[in-house]
Amino acid sequence: MLNAFTGVFLAALAVAAATRLWLSLRQIRHVRAHRGAVPGMFAEAIPLAAHQKAADYTVAKARLGIIDTVLDAIILLALTLGGALQWLADLWARAFAVESLWHGTALILSVFVLKGILGLPLDLYRVFVVEERFGFNRMTPRLYFTDMVKHLLVGAVLGIPLLLVILWLMQAAGTLWWLYAWAVLVAYSLFLQMIYPAVVMPLFNKFSPLSDPVLAARVEELLRRTGFRSRGLYVMDGSKRSSHGNAFFTGFGAAKRIVLFDTLVSRLQPAEVEAVLAHELGHYKLHHVVKGMALSWAFSFALLFALGVLAAQPWFYLGLGVTTATAAMALLLFMLVVGEFTFFLQPLLSLFSRKNEYEADRYAAQYANPSELAHALVKLYHDNSATLTPDPLHSAYYDSHPPAAMRIARLRTA
Ligand SMILES: [Zn+2]
Repeated sequence: MLNAFTGVFLAALAVAAATRLWLSLRQIRHVRAHRGAVPGMFAEAIPLAAHQKAADYTVAKARLGIIDTVLDAIILLALTLGGALQWLADLWARAFAVESLWHGTALILSVFVLKGILGLPLDLYRVFVVEERFGFNRMTPRLYFTDMVKHLLVGAVLGIPLLLVILWLMQAAGTLWWLYAWAVLVAYSLFLQMIYPAVVMPLFNKFSPLSDPVLAARVEELLRRTGFRSRGLYVMDGSKRSSHGNAFFTGFGAAKRIVLFDTLVSRLQPAEVEAVLAHELGHYKLHHVVKGMALSWAFSFALLFALGVLAAQPWFYLGLGVTTATAAMALLLFMLVVGEFTFFLQPLLSLFSRKNEYEADRYAAQYANPSELAHALVKLYHDNSATLTPDPLHSAYYDSHPPAAMRIARLRTA
């Protein structure tokens, strides 16, 4: 019952997995080769010990990535050609009629739960062994598990209604179901962005108004200069889970909030925080956020169209090792395998993102002090043990941000 599509799928999986492994090995080799000396332009700011810690951390993460790649490929093969999906579909068929929404929902949720359970040991290892060893983990096992339960509940409350609507459209809305599903998805993503900062994020973190008067005054002044309106400036207790620092915006329109991690506020000088914020403001002012949303909608439009075509082809199911050709099975198969095909678009997305980062840096250089941004970047690289010497090809393929050396070189001429 396997067919030509089986060959296409296996080829995509093999090439994607081989590319992932090859890039990880290149990254490990490159970072190790440059472990011995801090690159010249950082020699004053970053001690050798910190540089070597960053190299070891990067190598440890790349090794985890290798295990993850292999594990994912095995799970994907077991689910599809290995017959696990068909076995689950038959199992649920004893309780629910095969074409029913119940059968479809049970099938999809049970696969998600199964994948979650299989991925758990590696995630525990990542948090409590790797992050712990390098001093970044602040999570207790108790917090890890309460987080997991909360994520599951939030995922169920927000995800199951959407799943039901899409499954229903697939069965009842005719050949253009995918177009209606896309409209639902776009509307739902806007709704999520509206409720996320006010409803979901407070479930996981505490947000308090920025209390440091010196920093608050600087930020107010920056907001005035750039003509940016927001619904307040908050500090988030990111240190509860990790000592990695960050700054971001949530929400959109007039409901935007600016959020600074407490780890960032405590480590950077006010002028440096101001420069980092100016960079984040740049992403908003230069429409990167809107462009990113438009891109993801265009992407989901193309994917749903593809699913609309594939769901009607018997070879799509048979080629992936299943005979139960229901709407839910089509959706599930598509979600499981699509990443092996879209993986090859990753370098384009990274390129788009890095271009935006340079533009935001240029914006920050206009409205704040570029050398303060450069200082802040060096501190963040140091504190996060981010490598200063990534493999150029690995970086070009995956990295959303340009390498530190290239960003700082541009900031110096700004
Ligand atoms: Zn940025």
